Amino acid sequence: MQKIYITGHYEQDWIRMFTHLANLFFEQSKLVSEDQEDTLTVKMDVKKDSGNVLSVHAQLLHADNIYHSSFSEHEMADSSEKEKSRQLKRIYSHVFLDVLEQFTHTNQSWGILTGIRPMKLYHKYRQLGHDSEGITKLLMKKHRISKEKANLLGTIEQVQLQAIPDLHNLQDEVSIYIGIPFCPTKCAYCTFPAYAIHRKNGRVESFLDGLHEEIKEIGAWLKKRNKKITTIYFGGGTPTSIEAEEMDALYKTMYESFPHMKEVREVTVEAGRPDTITPEKIEVLKKWNIDRISVNPQSYTDETLKAIGRHHSVQETIDKFWLSRNMGMKNINMDLIIGLPNEGMEEFQHSLDETEKMQPESLTIHTLSFKTASEMTRNKDKYKVADREIAEQMMHLGECWTKENGYLPYYLYRQKNILGNLENVGYAKPGEESIYNIIIMEEVQTIIGIGCGASSKFMDPVTGKITQFQNPKDPAAYILTFQDYIDKKIEHLERIFPDTIVVD
Ligand code: SF4
Repeated sequence: MQKIYITGHYEQDWIRMFTHLANLFFEQSKLVSEDQEDTLTVKMDVKKDSGNVLSVHAQLLHADNIYHSSFSEHEMADSSEKEKSRQLKRIYSHVFLDVLEQFTHTNQSWGILTGIRPMKLYHKYRQLGHDSEGITKLLMKKHRISKEKANLLGTIEQVQLQAIPDLHNLQDEVSIYIGIPFCPTKCAYCTFPAYAIHRKNGRVESFLDGLHEEIKEIGAWLKKRNKKITTIYFGGGTPTSIEAEEMDALYKTMYESFPHMKEVREVTVEAGRPDTITPEKIEVLKKWNIDRISVNPQSYTDETLKAIGRHHSVQETIDKFWLSRNMGMKNINMDLIIGLPNEGMEEFQHSLDETEKMQPESLTIHTLSFKTASEMTRNKDKYKVADREIAEQMMHLGECWTKENGYLPYYLYRQKNILGNLENVGYAKPGEESIYNIIIMEEVQTIIGIGCGASSKFMDPVTGKITQFQNPKDPAAYILTFQDYIDKKIEHLERIFPDTIVVD
């Protein structure tokens, strides 16, 4: 634990900000209120001159060394108190990060950004009227993002707008997320609502009864308002954990309940666990024109799959990919994870070599993140994972490989406690991008979450303000309460779409 003492008095949100930044450098850090023997001391002071230029200076003292950083900017004229406070925080973050970088000899390629969605900042600057070169400069100067990462965001923006030219005009439509919370077994790094599927006590059947009802009632509301659906995404859990007949019934209800199904741009079903894929289930997917599935290897090393509790073999992934492909699935996504236990460059290269033989339409390269509730985080000592440098090299290898194989990056997000302060990047062959993934990352419209653990985001089409709403994670709680959750979601929909015409 690294203790840090920063001179001055700060509110809780400032302390959180400094702590997030310090955690980029130290496994755990804590801000303390006085200078102690084993603390790092950072002296901060701020000045505003007569021309309204704000200057913040930081000085980190350690042993006999002193590290300095200063940053100045004109105070934003005519802006709200909130915006002024945001600007000040950014300037403080800037110099705080700088002295820590000097002290640790580490470079943070994402600069002061500790949030999940750096692309949103890129889009925001674009909508303020900046050109690509200007945005890159702003990201580098104001946020200390590396040129390489700023360029990556620039490429992603181009691909996103190619895939969805009306990306910023989708606020009157909605997308749907349907969560099915079952998996064959629970993976060690997982914090999704995923319960090992067993057929005791009718839990799966009761959950599905609730799910059909939710689809019907939300669908009826959308039909009455003549609302268009942009995309539908079945996630979880593993939505292909249920039986083929159950999938068939669910998609039937979806087609009967939702309006304008022919105009939905994409329907994805995650079939992440290859051990759930059967010829019967693929037939059902095809019968209902499901465009896109995910078959997720995570790694092509059997020992790794065992270590993370996946309970399927590498060969099964390969077999199920080809089964899906040969039965006519035309848009298949695969996921890999950088930094799984005992994996280094050699294992990751092997995973890419295997992927090369299959050429899925899209490949998402995740970086392992230590989520608080996962088995891997609770027993961190049991798992040996790559260090920051190796993780960065693996990410770079992934970038080169995707380029050589004709993929372009199209969405990106980051997570807390992510290995090496890296990112997750979705790559796709041109024209094969997942529209849902872009929409959810860029938060451009309302997403209605149906089913277990499904998170809804109600976006006011006028103000852009987002209200989150979470369905229960646990199937037992869902079965008892889904009706209340339907009612509450409809209240939210009525609030954000008050003027929608009701069709009789
Ligand atoms: S397959 Fe996915 S949802 Fe299921 S336990 Fe593993 S990581 Fe979690």
